[in-house]
Amino acid sequence: MTTPQDIIRRDVLAMTSYPVPDATGYIKLDAMENPFLLPPALAAKLGEHLAAVALNRYPAPRPEALIDKIKRVMGVPAGCDVLLGNGSDEIIAMVSIACAQPGAKVLAPMPGFVMYQMSAKLANLEFVGVPLNADFTLDTEAMLAAIAEHQPAIVYLAYPNNPTGTMFDDADMERIIAAANKSLVVIDEAYQPFAQQSWLPRAGAYDNVVVMRTVSKLGLAGIRLGYLVGKAAWLTEFDKVRPPYNTNVLTQAAADFLLDHIEVLDAQAALLREERTKLAQAVAALPGAEVFPSAGNFLLVRVPDASVLFETLLTARVLIKNVSKMHPLLANCVRLTVGSAEENAQLIAALKLVLH
Ligand SMILES: *Cc1c(COP(=O)(O)O)cnc(C)c1O
Repeated sequence: MTTPQDIIRRDVLAMTSYPVPDATGYIKLDAMENPFLLPPALAAKLGEHLAAVALNRYPAPRPEALIDKIKRVMGVPAGCDVLLGNGSDEIIAMVSIACAQPGAKVLAPMPGFVMYQMSAKLANLEFVGVPLNADFTLDTEAMLAAIAEHQPAIVYLAYPNNPTGTMFDDADMERIIAAANKSLVVIDEAYQPFAQQSWLPRAGAYDNVVVMRTVSKLGLAGIRLGYLVGKAAWLTEFDKVRPPYNTNVLTQAAADFLLDHIEVLDAQAALLREERTKLAQAVAALPGAEVFPSAGNFLLVRVPDASVLFETLLTARVLIKNVSKMHPLLANCVRLTVGSAEENAQLIAALKLVLH
């Protein structure tokens, strides 16, 4: 009889599934979710809107009205197209698959978003990680040298970066884009609602740049919708490897409805930016805590002992992310998602159990 060990890829057998801890009963500050629900009246209207959706039909593969609305609401520049994904995670997978020629490589600064490496590996692409500087800014010379050496197919730049929160310097990025003239540079703007700076207006100005966005961090992580903005010449090719009905009718209908009420989500993001400032000040005031500047809805914090801090917070029913084993530059670092004022107050109280 066949066993999985006979036919599953060796590297897949050796993997573990993406860990998502059960957060029932915890204050969940580990995954950069927006803590706020929709206002009840708006949620009720959304319910009516979704009730009218024809669930018996396959979704439109390229829903024109929704794409036009995304272009208008998000300010996609003229001459750029939009490709939808079941979250931007799926867009990363599509880009990887489409570029997976023998010997092709993917390059990204490290520490960075884990899915760039994971997706490259699954598509049999070689991943090249280039360490950031100790302050988590880009080591531009190292990036340029690695691009010259490896001639990667894809270069990822998260703007701002996860898990560090760093806003990379625009001039550094310009130099990398210019040097990567045999690569596609994917600028990942998952945290744009909290950064308020964007490369989107310039998405059409380069032949080798596309900009990736998602509604996840804006407050809609549950609907799974990401989008890629760039020249049609690129998006047409990525569209060929898109699973045929990748965004479902409920996602499309919810996004279509909520883009007409984007001011609600924008106001929540504004509130979280204020909370981020307050939380950063409060954490920085704790003995032994070093808070790094963040343009995301999270803070990277170095503490004397990340494991002890993580475990103590767990006993206080607060779930955060211990990123200290992800990369040597992250030694004793934890990542705290910015929550509501009440959640942040409980987080600070729990942190004081360790840092005093
Ligand atoms: C959260 C995150 C994403 C993934 O977003 P989804 O649209 O939810 O798949 C992409 N890039 C970065 C840097 C992220 O932190």
